[in-house]
Amino acid sequence: MMNRSALVLFSGGQDSTTCLAWALERYARVETIGFDYGQRHAVEMDCRGQVTDALRASFPDWGARLGADHRLDLALLGQISDTALTQERAIEMRSGGLPNTFVPGRNLLFLTFAAAIAYRRGIEVLVGGMCETDYSGYPDCRDNTLKALQVALSLGLDQRLVVETPLMWIDKAATWRLARTLGGAALLEIVREHTHTCYQGDRTQRHDWGYGCGTCPACELRARGHAEFLSTGA
Ligand code: ZN
Repeated sequence: MMNRSALVLFSGGQDSTTCLAWALERYARVETIGFDYGQRHAVEMDCRGQVTDALRASFPDWGARLGADHRLDLALLGQISDTALTQERAIEMRSGGLPNTFVPGRNLLFLTFAAAIAYRRGIEVLVGGMCETDYSGYPDCRDNTLKALQVALSLGLDQRLVVETPLMWIDKAATWRLARTLGGAALLEIVREHTHTCYQGDRTQRHDWGYGCGTCPACELRARGHAEFLSTGA
């Protein structure tokens, strides 16, 4: 595995940062890709550089393998978000606790763009933080969806492409544990201090699990997972 290269879908959040560390532990060369698609998301995008700077400073071996960062402007997603298209289905999704920037099938688009970049860069593996355990509401994060997409992309590009999802079957507490296994206390501190998950974009309130409003669904999920991680012998 070590002579292969990977492209990590890296948003600057907890999950994708853990996936980035996972990839840096496994692949000879690791590049990152991020998607810019709206104001609310800008804070998370700003965290990306802080996370990679901190990883390079704390983990020189990983830093040596960490290559180019690709940042794509997907502002067009605003044209198909539920804030732009007020329909029954959109209202239904909002009441289900999903952010109003939610775009149906978003991960299918992200992975397809990532596959095009990977093809150009000679990269065989895509790594994403999709998870069926915590986000079963997102059908484009499910294992079967991603396996089907792996086949479609490999056929469509006429080149074998593997989609790796190291968080697929683990919960948030286990994601914290995985970070500790990969990078110990130093990586846990990078995740707490530099990654961003809050839907509100709040970086003013610091909790033991990191920054955020503390009340949105993303903060609640992150806080609950961190509490469980601590209570099970962190
Ligand atoms: Zn929040």
